[in-house]
Amino acid sequence: MNDDLKQKPESYWKEKLDPERYNVLRQAGTEQPFTGDLLNNHDKGMYVCGACGQELFSSDTKFESGSGWPSFTDPVNREHVDLIEDSTHGMTRTEVVCKRCGSHLGHVFPDGPKQMPDGKPASGQRFCINSASLDFKKSEK
Ligand code: FE
Repeated sequence: MNDDLKQKPESYWKEKLDPERYNVLRQAGTEQPFTGDLLNNHDKGMYVCGACGQELFSSDTKFESGSGWPSFTDPVNREHVDLIEDSTHGMTRTEVVCKRCGSHLGHVFPDGPKQMPDGKPASGQRFCINSASLDFKKSEK
């Protein structure tokens, strides 16, 4: 894939994405909590950008936050996401965006777990990501 995805006109995304995905990914919409099809996915694999396919979050970092959105402690690669201060909706939050294509993913909050269920240390961050912003690539085997 080429790297000029940020230069694509909105019409490119509007044609490529279904209306719900377009609303979340390209218009920074938020899906209704507890509705996303990846919320309760426990398979091993990689969550990738629903717009461009960039690898974003490993299943190893997914945890049960109770928020109603898929939640992760870390991106698979810090260089694959951009973090942007977001003061819309009367709150100051940090928006998480796909660095390759600029699409909206969700927000990150500092109230994540310090430890994973298997005892491994965790970042303490909660990447709260719309299911509609993601595709899942299940690990082979
Ligand atoms: Fe992307």
